[in-house]
Amino acid sequence: MDPFEEVNLSLNKASKYTNTKVTDGILEMLTTPWREIIVSCPIKMDNGETKVFSGYRIQHNAVRGPYKGGVRFHPDANHSEVKALSSLMTWKNAIVDIPFGGAKGGIQVDPNKLSKNELYNLTKRYTLSIDKFLGPNTDIPAPDLGTNSQTMAWMMDAYGSIHGYTPAIVTGKPVELGGSIGRDSSTGRGVVFIIDEVCKKLKLNPKNTSLIIQGFGQVGSWIAQIAFEKGYKIMAVSNVNGAILSNKGINIPNLIEYYNSNKTFDGYKNVEHISNDDLLLAKCDFLIPAAIERVITEKNADQIRSKIIIEAANHPVTPEADKILESKNIDIYPDTLVNSGGVIVSYFEWIQNLYQHQWEIERVNSELQKIITKAFIEVYDNAKNKNISFRLSALTIGLNRVIHTADLRGYI
Ligand code: GLU
Repeated sequence: MDPFEEVNLSLNKASKYTNTKVTDGILEMLTTPWREIIVSCPIKMDNGETKVFSGYRIQHNAVRGPYKGGVRFHPDANHSEVKALSSLMTWKNAIVDIPFGGAKGGIQVDPNKLSKNELYNLTKRYTLSIDKFLGPNTDIPAPDLGTNSQTMAWMMDAYGSIHGYTPAIVTGKPVELGGSIGRDSSTGRGVVFIIDEVCKKLKLNPKNTSLIIQGFGQVGSWIAQIAFEKGYKIMAVSNVNGAILSNKGINIPNLIEYYNSNKTFDGYKNVEHISNDDLLLAKCDFLIPAAIERVITEKNADQIRSKIIIEAANHPVTPEADKILESKNIDIYPDTLVNSGGVIVSYFEWIQNLYQHQWEIERVNSELQKIITKAFIEVYDNAKNKNISFRLSALTIGLNRVIHTADLRGYI
């Protein structure tokens, strides 16, 4: 199924549980992106040839505040994928109750195949192509898959070349350029706050709780580090090339030291080296997909042996897999709640930029914990009260907030 249709299918289901009746017209308003920008980005490659890349910025909904969401550089960043992700941003921001709408951007490119100079030129061309539709009160991009604080520095610079110094135009910037302290670890930290809350509900002790983390990038590696510090047993981790597993638990600081110097898990001692597919099927308490979309599908859902799935990546479980997992009584804590730590700290960064001030790390982390824990409790209680899945519960809360604000603005 097309990724955008998949997201809309879940919304359709959630719309049956909202406070107000969702008519066909309201559902159409909630599922249709308000603006879809498609641009061609030609750049001259280092070898002198010209290459054209497709770029997107989908502005899904802005009833609750300016459009907000990341920009990804990835070979699969096509129109439908970016549309689906823009919709998820609307719901994510509403579920955690921060004053933003939803958007997502992307360029269909493998950033690993471009030189730094080519990436710089591509980022600049993309930003200037969509510049008219951006602004600190209009649309505020951030990093996502394949982009990072350097990409945001280039975007801020390109936007500033027309509009002047505007740090609040992007979040996830380098701290020296107005980025928030703690933004780099925020998504991973938020994920671990959610795991802590699930453990409290299930009366699990971190020391006896095993985690498997798929993905060792910007999100997965932070989850591993923070969870390890809190005493969780990290049983397995993976990157695109393979996975490692140890029933005794992996020493993460040690692994990171090895990974930083070797850029691979190959050759790491005293662990079992397994495939990425097998990692997803290993037995554990919490399985945490923290990389790309659609890794748990109807093909492997039946063989999953973890008790709980924590969606640190965006949209890692397809609707078909959702059904199979539900029939196996595997609880899924959804992306819109679990990985919201990144955009929550983006919100803090935006606030800091607007009044030219810098918060300390303790404040960033404690306000993050407050917001994400409150959202967790709301999603959990609503799911139990209505006897629905956590995914439906979260979406219902998001829908209620967006519908209420749309009503106040006179759209309904
Ligand atoms: N790309 C991240 C996400 O999917 C962060 C978005 C943001 O900070 O605006 O939530």
